[in-house]
Amino acid sequence: MESYDVLIVGTGHAGAQAAIALRQGGFAGSVAMIGEEPDLPYERPPLSKDYLSGDKSFDRILLRPREFWHDRNITMLLGKRVVSVDAEQHEVTDATGATIAYGQLIWAAGGHPRRLNCNGHDQEGVHAVRTRADVDRLVAELPRVSKAVVIGGGYIGLETAAALRKAGKAVVLLEAQDRLLARVAGQELSRFFEEAHRGHGVDIHLNAQVSAIEGSERISGVRLADGRVFAADLAVVGIGIIPAVEPLLAAGAKGDNGVIVDECCRTSLTDVWAIGDCALHENIFADGRAIRLESMQNANDQASVVARAINGAATPYIAVPWFWSNQYDLKLQTVGLSDGFDYHIIRGDLDARSFSIIYFKDGRVIALDCVNHVRDYVQGRRLVANRVAIDPAIVANQGIPLKDVGC
Ligand code: NAP
Repeated sequence: MESYDVLIVGTGHAGAQAAIALRQGGFAGSVAMIGEEPDLPYERPPLSKDYLSGDKSFDRILLRPREFWHDRNITMLLGKRVVSVDAEQHEVTDATGATIAYGQLIWAAGGHPRRLNCNGHDQEGVHAVRTRADVDRLVAELPRVSKAVVIGGGYIGLETAAALRKAGKAVVLLEAQDRLLARVAGQELSRFFEEAHRGHGVDIHLNAQVSAIEGSERISGVRLADGRVFAADLAVVGIGIIPAVEPLLAAGAKGDNGVIVDECCRTSLTDVWAIGDCALHENIFADGRAIRLESMQNANDQASVVARAINGAATPYIAVPWFWSNQYDLKLQTVGLSDGFDYHIIRGDLDARSFSIIYFKDGRVIALDCVNHVRDYVQGRRLVANRVAIDPAIVANQGIPLKDVGC
């Protein structure tokens, strides 16, 4: 039986960074990464941006060249899906029935795109955007597409809509909520992005309930519960992810919508850790609530936390959350979690498409959304990290750089 001192399940950002950080920290034991995808670890953010629009080739989004993994003696077990974990025996089994033993198991399996469950959801021409293969399939169809329907108005939906508009496709965007980016942004920002997309010709419908994907051999349209049908040659579904934790939960790990981890990313199973999109952790920037953070920052930072713990220098996970999104000429950068804010102010000018929204809770700064406003993003991070209490009128004064406030 194959056996590794550390076995990492998942070859995304979290898994790759865990392997890198282990070696950087001097870990000398054997390390393997096992993952369903056939490719070496690659960057995910470009999938719905430059890779989809064809501005970056696959080679340019590889996290590290092939030699890097070889030189550090990190074994890649690619194209293999782990289906079960035996935490007592310290073994995993893949879909072919092969068993691999481990000393420490790092679960970095991420999540699977949520699927529609209406009639026709699996028609030809209905796509997700989560892996390289997803995007390659989508791009291959583009030459015969003139009308696309994007379902979901989160980051995936909006970035994909922008890329499809750039490719000259007619785009309808359907969102179930009454605003875009509802999960991650306040009303003001949702309205701003709605206007921006409308300005670029995206036909947006909010409160939209998709009831069927129409077509016989392949998609011909998307039907809503109110009877409207939008003609489509292609649909992209970006309606969130389901954390890939079934094998761990079946093995007895505590969790539900994600696997519960402590401040060093240990699960309730001995010698099993979990990081990234699937790790349900208490986050001080969410007032200590247990959340999953679906971001590259969280994947990388939790990976480093686990590597330090395995290398014998455990430190808890305390990292300011940050995110970014590129759509058209708009660069959105977010620091902190605005969920539950009770007050906000705007610095800059929405019409000039360069501004920051600063969110407060109980008089303290909890988050910033910066659109084409990099300086505020960089300088405002400290305000979020320290939850600085400050008079909003001072922050609203654009003449005062954020580095000079709340010192
Ligand atoms: P998301 O952020 O959860 O947004 C999905 C949106 O679709 C939600 O508003 C959701 O509403 C809505 N929705 C759900 N079911 C629907 C339906 N049947 N019809 C229409 N709308 C529906 O998820 P995502 O955009 O798919 O992104 C997936 C993951 O990739 C997330 O973790 C995201 O953060 C990550 N990602 C991040 C970036 C970035 O940071 N720039 C870029 C791409 C992807 P409900 O809340 O009601 O379900």
